[in-house]
Amino acid sequence: MTNNHEDELLAGVPAGLLIGGEWRPAEGGRTLDVSDPATGKVIAQIADASVADGQAALDAAADAFPAWAATPTRERAEVLRRAFDLLQERAEDFALLMTIEMGKPLAEARGEVAYGGEFNRWFSEEAARVQGRYGANPEGTGRMIVSQHPVGPCYLITPWNFPLAMATRKIAPALAAGCTVVVKPATQTPLTTLLFAALLADAGVPAGVVNVITTSSAGPVSESIIRDPRLRKLSFTGSTPVGQRLLAQAAEGVLRTSMELGGNAPFVVFDDADLDKAVAGAMSAKFRNVGQACTAANRFIVHRSVADEFARRVTEQVKGLVIGRGTEPDVTIGPLIDDRAVTKTAALVDDAVSRGATLRAGGRAVPGAGTFYEPTVVSDVPEGSDLLREEIFGPVLAIVPFEDEDDAVRIANDTEYGLVSYVYTENLARGQRMIERLETGMMGLNMGVVSNAAAPFGGWKMSGLGREGGTEGIHEYLQTKYTLTADPFA
Ligand code: NAP
Repeated sequence: MTNNHEDELLAGVPAGLLIGGEWRPAEGGRTLDVSDPATGKVIAQIADASVADGQAALDAAADAFPAWAATPTRERAEVLRRAFDLLQERAEDFALLMTIEMGKPLAEARGEVAYGGEFNRWFSEEAARVQGRYGANPEGTGRMIVSQHPVGPCYLITPWNFPLAMATRKIAPALAAGCTVVVKPATQTPLTTLLFAALLADAGVPAGVVNVITTSSAGPVSESIIRDPRLRKLSFTGSTPVGQRLLAQAAEGVLRTSMELGGNAPFVVFDDADLDKAVAGAMSAKFRNVGQACTAANRFIVHRSVADEFARRVTEQVKGLVIGRGTEPDVTIGPLIDDRAVTKTAALVDDAVSRGATLRAGGRAVPGAGTFYEPTVVSDVPEGSDLLREEIFGPVLAIVPFEDEDDAVRIANDTEYGLVSYVYTENLARGQRMIERLETGMMGLNMGVVSNAAAPFGGWKMSGLGREGGTEGIHEYLQTKYTLTADPFA
C-alpha cells in the first residue's frame, strides 16, 4: 500500500462475490490476491469463487430475470441514467482504482471513466427506443406483429485491459434490454468491476439482476455456467483462442454469443498524408494503454517515400515518453500487466531485430520493481517477422514500408484478424477506396482512436462476432418474435 488515500479507496472496494444482492465469501472462504503491476505489491484479497459459487450466481440471475424483464423500460432507463450520474460523481475514485490495479496512467484512466460511463447514458437512452412492427400480411389474410424480447440470463466475461469500459459496454445494454447478468471480470483487475457493481446497487439495480463472481478457476467455473440450460447468452471480450474455446462450449446449448476478440490493426500512411496528423494519430493508436488494447495499431504500413521521415518523427516523440507508476503526474507509459507480457514483448522485438529490422528507440525491459518495457520503435521490419503476425499488446511501434496502394492493401489484409484499421491520406477518393478494401469492422480515417459508445464496435474475421455500443448494441441482448394474427375484418 502506498498512501492513505489509496488505502481508503481500496478499503471501500467490496471483496466478496455479489450474488442475489448479497456480498458473500467464496465457498470455503477461499481468496485470491490482486497486485499493482507498477510495484508488484499485493493490494487486495478478494473471494475466489468455486463452480458451486458460479452456479449460485446463475441461480440468482435466473430467479431475478422474470421481474426485471417485466420492469417498464423507462424504469430500467432511469436506473442506468442514475448509474451514469453516480459514476461522474465518483470519477476520480474509479480512475485511481484502475490505475492502481491495471497500471494505466491516471489521465488515460480518466478517459476510460468518461468512455465507459457513457455506455450507461447511451443505453439508458436506447432502452426506451426498442420497437417492433405491425403490418398486413402481403396476401391480405392476416396481420403480422414483430416484437423484441430480452434473451434471458447472460454471462459476461471481461478482460483486464479496460476494466471499467469492457464491463459497462456489456452490462448497460443487457440491463437496458431486460436481461439479468453474471459478470466475471479478469482475475488481474477485478476491483473496478466490484466497485461498479456496488455503484449499480446504489443506482437502484434490484438484487439478483447483476451478480459478480471473481475466480482463479475461470475455465471450470465458466464452463459450468455456459453449459447450464438456463443461460441464454454469452458475451466475451478477450483473446481469440479463449473465445474459440467458449464458442465451442456455447454451441452445445445453441447460445446467443457476442465475441470481441483479438486484433492486429494496420496503420497505413500514404505519401499524400498529413504527416503531423499521422504522427499524432500513431502515438495515440500505439501507446494508449501501453499498447495493450485490441484496437492498438500493430503494423505501421508506411509508403516508402515517407517511411524514413515518419520513423524519425515518431522516434523523437517516443523518446519524450515518461515511464513510471501511472499515479505520478507526468507519466505516459505505465507497466505492462505482468512478467509474461514483458517476456513476450521482448521476444517479438528480438525476433524482428534478428531478421534485420532497425531498432530506433527502446528495445529493453526496464530493470527493477514492476513490469515495465521501454516504448520502442523498429523500422524496416521484414515480412514474416512475428511482430507483424502476432498481436503485440505492448509499446512497440513496428514500421514496414510499402510501394503502392495495392501493396498496402495486401499487407494490411494479410492477417486472420479484422478488428480495426487506420488510414492516413488527404486524398478523399483513396480514403473511400480503403473503406471498401480493408477487411476490418472499424476504421479510423485520419483518426487514431475510434471507440465511441454511440458506434457499433466489433470485428470481422477472427476478431469476433456481434457489435457493442451504437444502436446495434442492445440487439445483442434481444430476440425477435414474429406473430401472425387473423385478419381482424374476416
Ligand atoms: P484472455 O486471457 O482471453 O482473458 C479474458 C477473460 O477470459 C478473462 O476474464 C479471463 O479470466 C477469462 N478466461 C481465460 N480463460 C478462460 C476460460 N478457459 N474459460 C473462461 N474464461 C476464461 O484475454 P486477456 O489476456 O485478458 O485480454 C487480452 C485479449 O483481449 C487480447 O487478445 C485483446 O485483443 C482482447 N480484447 C479484445 C477487445 C475487443 O473488443 N475486441 C477488447 C479488449 C481486449 P482470467 O483473468 O481469470 O484468466
